[in-house]
Amino acid sequence: MTVEVTPHAAAETGNRPPRAVAKQRKQQQALARKEILAPVQGALTLASIVMAIASVCTVVPFILIVEACRELLDDPVDTDRVWRLFGLSMLVLLVRALLQAAALTWTHLVDGGYQLTVRRALAAKLTRVPLGWFGEHGSGEVKKYLQDDVEALHYLVAHARLEFVGALLVPLVSLGYLFTVDWRLTLVLLVPLFVYAMAFRKMMDRESMDRLAVYTRWERRVQQATIEFVDGIQVVRAFGQAGKAHREFQDAVDGQADSFDRWKTPMIRLQAVADIMISPVFVMLVIVVAGLAGVGADWLAPLDVLPFLLVGLGLGSALLGLGYGGQALRAAGAAAERLYEVQQSPELVSAAPVSDEPGEQAEAGRVRFESVGFGYREGHEVLRDIDLELRPGTITALVGPSGSGKSTLAKLLPRFYDIGSGRITIGGRDIRDYPSDELYRTVGFVFQDVRLIRGTVRENLLLAEPDADDAALERAARAAQIHDRILALPRGYDSEIGVDATLSGGEAQRLSVARALLADTPVLVLDEATAFADPESEAAVQDALAALVAGRTVLVIAHRLHTITGVDRILVLENGTLVEQGDHRTLSAAGGTYQRLWEINEAALGAVSLVESETAR
Ligand code: ADP
Repeated sequence: MTVEVTPHAAAETGNRPPRAVAKQRKQQQALARKEILAPVQGALTLASIVMAIASVCTVVPFILIVEACRELLDDPVDTDRVWRLFGLSMLVLLVRALLQAAALTWTHLVDGGYQLTVRRALAAKLTRVPLGWFGEHGSGEVKKYLQDDVEALHYLVAHARLEFVGALLVPLVSLGYLFTVDWRLTLVLLVPLFVYAMAFRKMMDRESMDRLAVYTRWERRVQQATIEFVDGIQVVRAFGQAGKAHREFQDAVDGQADSFDRWKTPMIRLQAVADIMISPVFVMLVIVVAGLAGVGADWLAPLDVLPFLLVGLGLGSALLGLGYGGQALRAAGAAAERLYEVQQSPELVSAAPVSDEPGEQAEAGRVRFESVGFGYREGHEVLRDIDLELRPGTITALVGPSGSGKSTLAKLLPRFYDIGSGRITIGGRDIRDYPSDELYRTVGFVFQDVRLIRGTVRENLLLAEPDADDAALERAARAAQIHDRILALPRGYDSEIGVDATLSGGEAQRLSVARALLADTPVLVLDEATAFADPESEAAVQDALAALVAGRTVLVIAHRLHTITGVDRILVLENGTLVEQGDHRTLSAAGGTYQRLWEINEAALGAVSLVESETAR
């Protein structure tokens, strides 16, 4: 569950998500991180153990040097021992460097393989989600998952754990050692560290995090406003609304600056205090003042101050490591959460086998909807109790007012979405029992959002049928009334889309109709707007389709009724239920929804021809 706080609401009224929600969200993030990192957990634990040994080795040389100094001040001086101690400290330093390098190399190697695995798993997942998922998640978003988010995980896998182990163990081992030297001075040294920890905690408290969340939302709003501003500039300027669009952008920028102020200002003092507390100069000052006082009071030998100066000074930088990783950790955590959500998104499921009525000899290509119900969201049914049959060799048109559910119904057949109740069968078999490649060899579709791939016209057509020969390509292109246009391109069928083939919207649609025809699926679902894109070729495409329909089951979503008067059957949808079905002649005189829609269509056509004849005069 995501918690939405609008920038305005949170920034201006101080509304915050309830504590329980915030806690639940944190738990979800932790779960997401754990699940996403599960495949590399073992390897990371091993690397952490190596890093823990390296962390101990970071402190040991200082202890050895202190011992060497003690020896140097002894009388008589055992020079051999001094050299041994120095030599040993060098050796430990070398071992530490090697261990650290080994741990880092290991996590980077693990990360390389892991990124590949995650990308493959995501790609595999994307083959199992319903096609409708891609309508809700744009290509930019998919790119973000596969590329940016997987890359952001790099920090989690290759660095976060090691840095955490180092940042925790080095101070712990150091403090443990210093405690054995002099516990009183150690306690004094803990004071600045404690103040730092408090300041850091305050900077990370719920209030600051809320303010950061508000800032992040404003930041996203600025990005959105920028894109909208640039994308819509032509329309906006054409309608003289540039000032308004500019204002929205300006508001977003102002909001971002405000929220930045609100988030950062209270932190500046805290940040300054925290930085001073663990700065080497301040820590040294504390050690020197407290140490001298201890020596003066005679409860500390002067030489015992040395380990504090050598080891104590390094504590601050070790703690800083914890703070600096925070931002990268949050970004990686958010990426992990998004990827987890993708992994959890519902997949197309196979139906429990439902045996057909005994004796039923289903015709291949015969489509049946049986009591089908569907809603995009729970509790909001878009289609209710749909019962219909589409027979091979017939064209069925789906008509109805805008928003009545035509596109939704058509998209259920190629499983853009899975139905909520009832079942859909093709040739007597539940579509959920078709493996997806078989389903797409059975159901072809051309919807309004035409997609052409980067490549040549030929490659776009061959996508439907890789083994098709030139004659087959040409037949399909002719049928879709696009062959002549392709020949007029600089390199004909080998022209590259977007390079030397700039197709109009209608042409791109006809190319995708050709592609669907080439796929030669027994069932074809078309959007009339795509099939009959250009008025001048409308009749031609209609004739071609009529020829191609032989033996096929065709469902057409119709927007302009005069284009479908000749089809075999018309289904009328209203508010998600089928209210009428029959042929044009019967329905247009039945006094129902169809007749009303037909009269509106006629009136619109009449108005158009009136305008045309006026213009001609
Ligand atoms: P039509 O094709 O008849 O105009 P649609 O099938 O597009 O109707 O829409 C039917 C209803 O479903 C509408 O209320 C529409 O707002 C809703 N709807 C369509 N697509 C989506 C979607 N992807 N997510 C949520 N609701 C949708």
